Amino acid sequence: MNLLITGGAGFIGSNLIRHVIDKPEITKLVNLDSLTYAGHLENLDGIHGVHLRYIFEKVDLRNKDEVLRVVRQHDITHVMHLAAESHVDRSISGPGDFITTNINGTFHLLEACRSHWQTRNQEPGTKNLFLHVSTDEVFGSLGPTGFFTEETSYAPNSPYSASKAASDMLVRAYHHTYGLPTLITNCSNNYGPFQFPEKLIPVVIQSILARQSIPVYGDGMNVRDWLYVGDHCEALWTVLTAGKPGETYNIGGHNEKANLHLVRLICDLIDEMQPALGGSSRDLITFVTDRPGHDRRYAIDAGKIERDLGWVPAHTFETGIRETVAWYLQNQAWCQSVLSRH
Ligand code: NAD
Repeated sequence: MNLLITGGAGFIGSNLIRHVIDKPEITKLVNLDSLTYAGHLENLDGIHGVHLRYIFEKVDLRNKDEVLRVVRQHDITHVMHLAAESHVDRSISGPGDFITTNINGTFHLLEACRSHWQTRNQEPGTKNLFLHVSTDEVFGSLGPTGFFTEETSYAPNSPYSASKAASDMLVRAYHHTYGLPTLITNCSNNYGPFQFPEKLIPVVIQSILARQSIPVYGDGMNVRDWLYVGDHCEALWTVLTAGKPGETYNIGGHNEKANLHLVRLICDLIDEMQPALGGSSRDLITFVTDRPGHDRRYAIDAGKIERDLGWVPAHTFETGIRETVAWYLQNQAWCQSVLSRH
């Protein structure tokens, strides 16, 4: 396969490229990324500019002609579409980029694939696939019980989740209208190495190391279902290689945690790993005004991908969070470098 990964310089995309680059099914892997504040080529050290199968295209998804050029020039057969504006807080303060990148950008990529796959001279047996990576936030907020399934109605509550929901709908429509071989995944919150330090876990770690207050929204009782990024990458590869076109798969970690409990756990882990910091890091926790429209609880029923495709997460939350905290402690130079540019 000639695989196009969009957003490969971001958090999940860079982990995904590391995860799949040596798979024997791949002939070449093209990383399309415009390198926004969230995209960093040092996330791909050891691959970018080094690996023979790897090609980088600095392209903005909002440039329709350039997106088509990349798909045609590299004769792309498979797509894993991750590039997006991804931070809910930024979507509240400035929703414009979320509309143009997440919706228009996805439209441009769908059009490019539709055009190329309908006109290229296909080798007999050549398979094309367009895997669209989405979020559980499209389903809105749950009460204290219940889970999101693939049949749950969409009810997005932030400009971020609304833009992702719109892009999911476009992907669905391209399958039903044009027969484009699409797959959609809706995943819960990821954690792991290379997450830009604006999201909860790296923000907490950086605050503790700087002995600054740790901001916790509202009463801290908003619940998220956490999945180790490496498990997400394996789930995406499983869906690409074994999923049924036209289907949607939910991906989750069976790890529901209230934000406050997660923050306390990180405090305790850092106190254990870096006793020289002195004092209890829990004392740094500060409750701040809640995010507008903050969804209370997300929880994924990942039964379909487990039953149909045999994927289950390999990491427990206890091992994944310990590895993640240790990675940030050992990679402070990376954190300072990516933060210093924004
Ligand atoms: P990220 O913000 O870390 O990375 C996004 C990448 O997309 C960056 O490299 C950025 O440069 C690139 N990008 C942004 N706008 C672009 C544009 N116009 N053209 C080309 N490239 C552009 O995001 P992430 O956390 O790695 O998330 C990746 C995908 O997974 C997103 O689609 C997101 O909605 C989805 N997702 C994320 C999570 C999570 O917990 N992080 C959970 C579920 C789903």
